[in-house]
Amino acid sequence: MKNITVIGAGTMGNGIAHVFAMNNYKVSLVDISQASLDKAISTIEKNLDRMIAKEKITEEAKNKTLSNILTFTDMEPGVKSADLVVEAATENVDLKLKIFTQMDKFAPSDAILATNTSSISITKIAAATDRPDKVIGMHFMNPVPIMKLVEVIRGYATSDIVCDTIMKLSSDIGKVPTEVNDYPGFIANRILMPMINEAIYSLYEGVAGVEEIDTVMKLGMAHPMGPLQLADFIGLDVCLSIMNVLYDGFGNPKYAPCPLLVNMVTAGELGRKSGTGFYDYRAGGKEFILSEKFKK
Ligand code: NAD
Repeated sequence: MKNITVIGAGTMGNGIAHVFAMNNYKVSLVDISQASLDKAISTIEKNLDRMIAKEKITEEAKNKTLSNILTFTDMEPGVKSADLVVEAATENVDLKLKIFTQMDKFAPSDAILATNTSSISITKIAAATDRPDKVIGMHFMNPVPIMKLVEVIRGYATSDIVCDTIMKLSSDIGKVPTEVNDYPGFIANRILMPMINEAIYSLYEGVAGVEEIDTVMKLGMAHPMGPLQLADFIGLDVCLSIMNVLYDGFGNPKYAPCPLLVNMVTAGELGRKSGTGFYDYRAGGKEFILSEKFKK
């Protein structure tokens, strides 16, 4: 493996490109938006500067990392010499199926096609290609340069050799890979999202307030962030969509999204990215207070 293509240069794509480039892989970063590509390169530069300031890397390593990344707005030249493609485009099933059909056409026939999807079936994505044995999930966590875990998800048809290759590659870039099978939510979101949903139910049923729920989980369970604040950071729309994937995928009422979560998303209260959720982030920076709505 020498040439890695990353499709999508958003939050996750720039982090994935950063990590591969820093580990001496040649990275082709592809996005339909030139603005996203420009922003990704400047984010990677800023993150590398932060690593220099912390004396984790040298100026030379920064320059080498940046020189390992080329950007493309067209898929064909971006994937044509890839050994591995990691898709990290917008979470939308139709878009992913279209991207995988194109990748299958333009990437070398022996290239492995991975997706960073949080919730879409790997088996379904693989079925859009003529190489389902070479399709796999590589679920990186945000922020990618810092978080160690890669959830490696085997689709129904993923071959042993492809899985072994991706497990080894993930270790080679300094991550800790964990192999899981392809069922709704995989492991990370299957366990995290019902916990967040239960926290929202506890608030909805009046068992405790926002800060009380978060304090119990922070100080009682040593979680670095309470579940309601974490939901705000992930985005309440993303949490709702993953709960719906679990609910539809298992057909079990225990995964029904809390009506309060549904209402908040419908009202456009999406958490940090919209300015308000359970907390109010409109002051900017790292400051936040309890949302007006949840004051007693
Ligand atoms: P994002 O919205 O920040 O970035 C998505 C990028 O994809 C955008 O730059 C967009 O221009 C680009 N894009 C859209 N259509 C494209 C196409 N046809 N070809 C190339 N690029 C295209 O999204 P994100 O948060 O980085 O999420 C990307 C993927 O990673 C999703 O599947 C998501 O579920 C998954 N994920 C996200 C997180 C997270 O915390 N954000 C964590 C784990 C996994």
